[in-house]
Amino acid sequence: MNQRDPGTRGYSGPPATLANHEDNGFGLIPYCRACNHRGATLTPREIAERHGLPMTAYVIDVQAKLICSKCGARESFFHIKNPWVDGSRSR
Ligand SMILES: [Zn+2]
Repeated sequence: MNQRDPGTRGYSGPPATLANHEDNGFGLIPYCRACNHRGATLTPREIAERHGLPMTAYVIDVQAKLICSKCGARESFFHIKNPWVDGSRSR
């Protein structure tokens, strides 16, 4: 089935930035651990604009700012959507 975490395979560099994910064509889907709410898929640039952050912000730092729109918990994390792996982008 789907690989659960293709984004970390073989990854051993510094923390990824929003720009890194944009370069890779990745989308980010906010999930809430507290209530399992899943947000819409956003591009890294949309996230930067929404939070007023530079594209050089680390994804893990952005994640720390997320607040669930449903339950208000700060328990959200990004699921990385890799269109090259999941087939939503054919080539
Ligand atoms: Zn929630």
